[in-house]
Amino acid sequence: MSIAELYNIFKEYPLVSTDTRKISQDCLFFALKGENFDANTFAGEAIKQGAAYAVVDCLDLPKNPQFIFVDNVLKTLQDLAHYHRKQLGLPVVGLTGTNGKTTTKELINAVLSQKFKTSATLGNLNNHIGVPLTLLAITPETEVAIVEMGANHQKEIEFLCAIAEPDFGLITNVGKAHLEGFGGFEGVKKGKGELYDFLSKSNETVFVNHDNNYLLEMSNDKVFKEVVYYGTSSLCYVSGELLANDPYLKIAWRQGGHQETVQSQLTGIYNFENILAAIAIGKKLGLTNEEVNKGIEIYQPTNNRSQIIKTAKNTVIGDFYNANPSSMAVAIENIAKLDAGKKILILGDMFELGDESQAEHQTIVKQVGKHSFDEVIFIGKEFSKQQQAPFSFYTDVEVLKKHLENNPIEGALILLKGSRGMKLEQLMEQL
Ligand code: ATP
Ligand code: MG
Repeated sequence: MSIAELYNIFKEYPLVSTDTRKISQDCLFFALKGENFDANTFAGEAIKQGAAYAVVDCLDLPKNPQFIFVDNVLKTLQDLAHYHRKQLGLPVVGLTGTNGKTTTKELINAVLSQKFKTSATLGNLNNHIGVPLTLLAITPETEVAIVEMGANHQKEIEFLCAIAEPDFGLITNVGKAHLEGFGGFEGVKKGKGELYDFLSKSNETVFVNHDNNYLLEMSNDKVFKEVVYYGTSSLCYVSGELLANDPYLKIAWRQGGHQETVQSQLTGIYNFENILAAIAIGKKLGLTNEEVNKGIEIYQPTNNRSQIIKTAKNTVIGDFYNANPSSMAVAIENIAKLDAGKKILILGDMFELGDESQAEHQTIVKQVGKHSFDEVIFIGKEFSKQQQAPFSFYTDVEVLKKHLENNPIEGALILLKGSRGMKLEQLMEQL
């Protein structure tokens, strides 16, 4: 079956599912293969549960008028998503970067939805499956789409751009993460820079953080339809200034001779640039200052990305959704600057750093040593190789949990940050 023919079916059955646990009535089920499963084996089950059709690629399956046989289900999903995107005449904002993608995506969505019907990546569905699913969820009513693109190796962003064809794009930043897959920091720049390559080749508009020298350098040697700068310099299209971070960010911003102030519900100075990015996109897409401010004001972070959690005993900056050397460094600088009586760090290992793991964990311990915190606790095997007084080191969460049961922390501002795999959320009970 050609993609055009499949597209006609999709138009009739626009709900797409890849998970038999989440089958909606009359959906199109795509039988993807994972490391440990082959969803072709669930295709019959999907139909039983109400799927209109199942797209499959296993020739051994019994004949069934509701099975659509293709060569490769994943490629078909991606091709269909691309085909759909081409049919839609709407602007697509594509974003990637090392840190802050989801937060910036949510902020852009909060802002743009003040004026437009938007469709944005759900949660963190930002890979070779998530991006197609994001695109296929765009309905005819949608006026703007915001697509988060993640990558941990070269050519991934190039591939996702070819599917999503963004008209507007931004790289939030380039930092040290997935160093294994990218081949070091230069590799990260090259890999994320594939978004700039795409926007340049297709003559589209790029938004660039003027305060970030790497991004300036990466964008300077390319030609775009338009380069829209945001940052602290008054030369930028949108310029901003941090007014307060206590612990929520308050920002003054200027555009076209007007000055505004906006109070956000985000903490972490690193979110300053994420907010400015969303303001710049909102203004470029024609929103009023009031609409832009409202979008920024209403957005509340979720999923433990720099969330302020007030417990019975403490205030926790919960940032245990992920961690890498760049986001760890900015989170430490952020709490160092915050005003609080008692400040405590609980930091877990950062994963996927390959050969640079030991050096990067050492750098963080050194950075912490430059500030004076009331207590610093490191958890994980990598941090534990860096034993240094007066800090405490625990190899895993369980041991620390027991310690905290007998030695509770009270009345403190606590930064709790580490890689997802460290499962630091388990400590919340004790905090
Ligand atoms: P993922 O790769 O998991 O999709 P992401 O790029 O979507 O991550 P977010 O989920 O928005 O990033 O944020 C994760 C964490 O990154 C935040 O909690 C914060 O610690 C850090 N972070 C957010 N924005 C920035 C930024 N502009 N610069 C550096 N670190 C940031
Ligand atoms: Mg994300």
